[in-house]
Amino acid sequence: MLLQDNLQEVKEGRRITAKGYAVNHKNDTFKPFLFSRHALGENDILIEILFAGICHSDIHSARSEWRQGIYPMVPGHEIAGKVVAVGSQVSKFKVGDYAGVGCMVNSCGECEACKRSQEQFCQNAKTIFTYDCKDCFHDNEPTYGGYSNNIVVHEKFAVNVPQNAPLEKVAPLLCAGITTYSPLKFSGVKKGDKVAVAGFGGLGVMAMKYALQMGAEVSVFARNDKKRDEAIQLGAKALYVSTQECKERFNFLISTIPTGYDVNSYIDLLEFGGEMAIVGLPPVELKTHIDLTRLVFAAGKKVYGSLIGGMKETQEMLDFSLKHRIYPETEIIGVNDINQAYENLTNGKAKFRYVIDMASLQN
Ligand code: NDP
Ligand code: ZN
Repeated sequence: MLLQDNLQEVKEGRRITAKGYAVNHKNDTFKPFLFSRHALGENDILIEILFAGICHSDIHSARSEWRQGIYPMVPGHEIAGKVVAVGSQVSKFKVGDYAGVGCMVNSCGECEACKRSQEQFCQNAKTIFTYDCKDCFHDNEPTYGGYSNNIVVHEKFAVNVPQNAPLEKVAPLLCAGITTYSPLKFSGVKKGDKVAVAGFGGLGVMAMKYALQMGAEVSVFARNDKKRDEAIQLGAKALYVSTQECKERFNFLISTIPTGYDVNSYIDLLEFGGEMAIVGLPPVELKTHIDLTRLVFAAGKKVYGSLIGGMKETQEMLDFSLKHRIYPETEIIGVNDINQAYENLTNGKAKFRYVIDMASLQN
């Protein structure tokens, strides 16, 4: 029924009605929310969302842990679904194709960063994030994410997903996948390297799988040993519960930790010339700080931050993942379970990635 309504709206050039789950303030729980998306433009596609992953960034955003959020907020930037309508100028997709959408839905397309397909760093500050963002291409209306039945997106910001791909596994690749793949590639991780992954959740497990595929030996850092067996089964050499107990040194270290922690103790674990990529983004009030004296005297080591990845690299990551069958560890839930999933992800009770089956929205 909803889909038929949407197709009629497309035909008449009207706004697209949508149904999702939203919070109305930072302490709220998720409730059903009816809203509308901008009409299908000539370069846009309309996707019926089938699966949406829950990223820890969704929790930071919904709870205004980085900055004051825009409410009502429908999070979700790990989106996989089916193309149900295409604008007149669309060339990458046809109706019936599968598509994925990650953290961005538009950018200026003209600046140096956009030209290099680093759209997440649009120099004209026109990176439009999938939710919790004002869309300057559409009268500054707020964007709404993937915990919903559909999304309208510029075709440049959707990736092609082959028909035989497992969509529930593809969804988390659109953020957890690209965010870990990109720095591993940037740092040129290769066969024989020693890699450490700090924070072994949705992102961490992807970082480990990519690093293993690139031929590295991987150790994991967690805050307890609950996932030791899983880590070893999935190919880790060791799981450490503190930096002090680790006597190894690493060529590359990626931190996906979403809470306050001592960054310096991880920098200490780098080999001479080693690199550390920071992707975990703790709440702003939990100030993390890098000890400059220690860093200067550790010269030869490099520490950098990394934000998702550009659209070209996102497609590359997806193709690489499917080719090598590198998939997230997922647990499928319904929309009614979102609140519990948030609790679990905050209280150390979650395993890796929750993925919402959007068929549950119809019930
Ligand atoms: P998850 O909650 O799935 O995983 C985080 C993991 O870190 C959990 O396993 C958690 O353990 C563990 N952890 C928490 N504190 C510590 C600690 N002190 N030491 C070691 N491990 C710890 O989150 P995600 O993987 O989805 O996201 C991780 C972070 O990355 C978030 O801050 C998110 O916002 C950020 N992010 C950044 C992106 C970017 O582009 N830079 C893109 C996407 C996400 P436990 O289970 O015990 O809680
Ligand atoms: Zn994310």
